[in-house]
Order: sequence, then C-alpha cells, then structure tokens
Amino acid sequence: MQTFFTSAQMADPNIQDVNQILRTCVHCGFCNSTCPTYVLLGNELDSPRGRIYLIKDMFEHDKPASAKVTKHIDRCLSCLSCTTTCPSGVDYMHLIDRARVRIEKTRRRPFLEQMMRTFITHVLPSPTLFRWSLIVAWVMRPLRFAFPKRLKAMLGLTPSTLASPSPVDRPQVFPAIGEKKKRVALLAGCAQQVLRPSINEATISLLTRHGCEVVIADGVGCCGALVHHMGNEVAAQQQARTNILAWESLVEENKDNSEIGGGLDAIIVNASGCGTMMKNYGALFRDDYIFAERAGRIASLVRDISEYVMDLDLKPSEIEETYAVTYQSACSMQHGQKITIQPQALLAQAGFTVREPKEAYLCCGSAGTYNILQPELASQLRDRKAGAISETSPDIVATGNIGCLMQLEGSIEAPILHTVELLDWATGGTKPAAIRSPKN
Ligand code: SF4
Ligand code: SF4
Repeated sequence: MQTFFTSAQMADPNIQDVNQILRTCVHCGFCNSTCPTYVLLGNELDSPRGRIYLIKDMFEHDKPASAKVTKHIDRCLSCLSCTTTCPSGVDYMHLIDRARVRIEKTRRRPFLEQMMRTFITHVLPSPTLFRWSLIVAWVMRPLRFAFPKRLKAMLGLTPSTLASPSPVDRPQVFPAIGEKKKRVALLAGCAQQVLRPSINEATISLLTRHGCEVVIADGVGCCGALVHHMGNEVAAQQQARTNILAWESLVEENKDNSEIGGGLDAIIVNASGCGTMMKNYGALFRDDYIFAERAGRIASLVRDISEYVMDLDLKPSEIEETYAVTYQSACSMQHGQKITIQPQALLAQAGFTVREPKEAYLCCGSAGTYNILQPELASQLRDRKAGAISETSPDIVATGNIGCLMQLEGSIEAPILHTVELLDWATGGTKPAAIRSPKN
C-alpha cells in the first residue's frame, strides 16, 4: 500500500511504525473473509482492510479521530483473526493499538460510554472492587428493565453465583510435590480469580504435582490488557511496569538456583488474553528503550499453561470414562499467541475425545471488554459460536480463556471449563463439580 507521510511526520517513531505496517498491506482483502465483524455486517469499513484505510487516512492527514473512524475501530474485536489469514504479514495488532490510542487522545465520548470505560479502567482490574461491583450488580439485576440499553446489557452479564475468594491467590510460594524440577511464577490475574477461582487452584495443583515450585509474586496485579484494549496506553504501561518490577525481583532473588531464565523458569499465564498482552510487554515500552529491554526479558519468560505443560511430561490419565470435549480456541490463544495444537494434544493425551466446532477461527464475542461495550454484536457472535459448539454434542467444553468461558456459559448445555481444570483432574487432581457422566 502506498503511503504519503511527510518527512516531518516521519520524524516521529510512532508514525514510522505505522507507515511500515501500512506498507506491508497489499489490499488483497483475504482477511475480510475471516473477520467476525465483516462476516456479520458485510460492510467493508467493518473489515480489516477497511479499517486499515480508515487508520491510514487518520494518521496521514494527522486528524483527530472522527465519529466514523471511532465507530468502526470500536467495532473491531482485536481478535487478530485477520493476522492469521493475512498472507503479507501485516502487523494489524500494533496498528489497531496505535489507532485506539489516537482515538482515546482525540475523541470525547458520550457521557454514558465514558462512564462505562471509567468503570472498566478502575474496577475490573481490582479483584476487591470487582467483587463488590458484582454484588451490587446482582442486587440491581431485577431492576435492569429501568436502565439504559447498554447498562441493561452490562447487568445481564452478571454471573448468578459468586465463589468465595480463594486463599491461593494471595502472594505465597507453593512447594513442588516430590523432586523440584522448575520454579515458576503464576499470574493470579484480576477478574478471573473472582469469577472462577478454581482455575488458579487447578493450575497450582497441576504444576506442583509435576515438580514445579509455584510463586505468586507480591505486587503483581492486572496484566494491563483491559485498559490497553480501550486505548489507555498510559494505564496499561503503569500496570505492566508494576508487574515487571515484581517479577524482576523474583528472578534476582534466586538467580543462581535455576538453569533457565535466571531465578525463574517461566511466568505462567492461564488466561490467553493476558498472555497475549504480556508477551508484548517489550513493544508496550517502545518509547523507553531501556525499560523496553527489561520488559522484553520478562516477556520472554511468559508461557501459556498449555505451552508449559507440554514440556513437563504429563502424568498418565486416571479417568476411566470417555468424555467428548469440544475445544473452543480463544482468539488470543490461536491468533494472538499462535498456540493451536498444544491444548488439544494435551486433552487427547489426558484421555478425552477432542472435537472442534466449525468456524473455529471466529471470535465468540467476548474479546476482553467487547461484550460490555458492544453488546449487540457480541451476542450475535456468542449465539453463532454456541450453536457451532452444540452441534458437536460435547460432554464438556474446554477453553483457555476466562472471557470465552463467561461469554458462553449459559448458552451451551454442557459445562464449560478451563483446559487446565480437565488436565488437573485427569492426572490426579480434583474433579470439577460441574462434570456429569458422559452421554455415551
Ligand atoms: S490480507 Fe493482509 S495484505 Fe491483504 S488486505 Fe488484509 S491485511 Fe492487507
Ligand atoms: S482484529 Fe478481528 S474484528 Fe478486528 S479487523 Fe481483525 S479480524 Fe476483524
């Protein structure tokens, strides 16, 4: 694609990056066919190629974000399906990130929308505030008919039950069971530990049983993805910096005791949305070269739990019945991190019969905070995904991201669990309470 930035514009490293990304696009349109919003709406401006043109125009003419640009960029799920399809290697992820930052800086949003964004920025990353907000939302839910459409949709996302806080999410060290082979840190996360504390519990149980010492580092909080998705780069950098400093201390305090990665063999993530964000910590600090290098070192230690368990030599399965498990690959897993075979391979190794729904490349509509901010499109995608999964007649649905799990729960008859909960159960851990006997 031809671009026409002036030499004065090109003095800005951000514009240099935007220019380089734009120039790799050959506007072939292959990406359109796998873009969820284009599949639903059939509008070129709601396709990757259309959005690339809108972004090009905004940056080239150095314009503030218009209502039109904002509308079509906001509708993008950042699912990155387009990056998997693109034959030209267009780095759409970093392009849309820059566009979101520009929108955030130059566009004033309507009051209600701004209020919702402020809520997400301040409440969701804090487990305590998020827990309280869910309790308030749960009380208000019967009155939701009286609320504006968007708030009504948001209240509709409130789960019907809320588990107690899990003791595993506090900073501490879980010793390896038997011989200690590895030392890893686990991101305890933010929203996930409130919505499904059993995921971290299963992760710790699985890792310690396979010879890993697991550390929950003091001071680590939200990975920054929630605010980053909304274009709030400053808040994302603050959250990422806090985490990086905390994990650097872990590496430092034990640096002579490990073979790989200094004092830490890996930083384990069990929410693929967070993993995609953390693997990009280096790029997040592109304007601060010194810290970018430190961020890059921490990012290089980040592993999704399914990637890491592949290297641990999974113990033999103890499950006697045959369960059909349909695997729902989160976009952040398959497109963001390009992890496409490990979770299914592990599930099969653990004795499950693994199935895949049709249109597996399409997003379920969760996409971070998308189901809060774009409820209509998110529900259409959820129903489409739930239909495709139900066609496979699963006994259990497995996924590697809390967003998909919450988005699809209630729309599918079978219980939906995190992959790690199944792997833990199969290798001697606790059986998840939601699992019923297999149909066949
Ligand atoms: S597939 Fe890639 S090169 Fe083709 S239009 Fe889409 S982004 Fe551009
Ligand atoms: S990130 Fe997803 S929704 Fe956005 S343009 Fe790419 S495929 Fe479409």
